[in-house]
Amino acid sequence: MKNECYIVRDLLPSYIDELCSEESAKFIEQHIGTCEKCSQLLHQMRLEFDTQEQTEIPARLEQKKPFQKIAHFFNAQKSFTKFFSISFWVTFIVTLGFFIYSLNVLSNLNDEREDAQVVEQQKQDIMEKTFAILSSQESINETALQAVFDQYNGQLQHLAVFATKNIDDLARLQKGPTNTFPIDYSQALLIIGEKGKILETIVPNDYDIGTVAMANDQWIVQFEYKESYLKTIENAHQIKYYAPTNWTIFQLPIVFTIITAFILGGLLFQKRITKPMKNILD
Ligand SMILES: [Zn+2]
Repeated sequence: MKNECYIVRDLLPSYIDELCSEESAKFIEQHIGTCEKCSQLLHQMRLEFDTQEQTEIPARLEQKKPFQKIAHFFNAQKSFTKFFSISFWVTFIVTLGFFIYSLNVLSNLNDEREDAQVVEQQKQDIMEKTFAILSSQESINETALQAVFDQYNGQLQHLAVFATKNIDDLARLQKGPTNTFPIDYSQALLIIGEKGKILETIVPNDYDIGTVAMANDQWIVQFEYKESYLKTIENAHQIKYYAPTNWTIFQLPIVFTIITAFILGGLLFQKRITKPMKNILD
């Protein structure tokens, strides 16, 4: 190895990094052109330099890892948001469906309530009119009672008048028109039907919802509804005693509204906290 070779080898790393002066570079290139050994060494050093470069890539990637983690975090947030959005729309539509259904139920119920009120009002009216006639005279005014009956001909089967003394269950009947098991018609002072005064024996229908009675100190009035009108009477009875409250009807939509509101709240909250973080990273 010549003396020149030592100088060249000292300079080679700088030459590879392109850090040496133009003169030095020319000198090295000249020497390389004539010296086989130094030429080989340069080649070898270049190879090493390249592999070193390559091993640096994963190391650089390693440095990027925290950013990848943040990216993962945002991807997870994204799926979470997606899940929240889908849940929101599903519960929203279900809630809407329940509301429409409940409104429909309420509307039908209100119609039935009106029908029930008509029945209740009718019951009061018949009794009021009948007792007004009975109270106005000493004896029973058959013609006037017939007129009342004819007014409700579509609903009533017959109307009977009894003397109060014949009855045990008086206190209950004195409170107002009430549904009752029929009082035995054989004790009646007068029974009126479609075709006037009924003289033959009447078989009561034995149905409490189909029979109404009311009493004062002197008289008891009892009427039975027509078979064809019983369905209306039964519905009215159902509504009066067993109708669901508005709260019961709207229970499900209200519960679902609360669930939907919670999901929406979660969704908005999540968007609010991730948005500024994302802005910073972008
Ligand atoms: Zn050399």
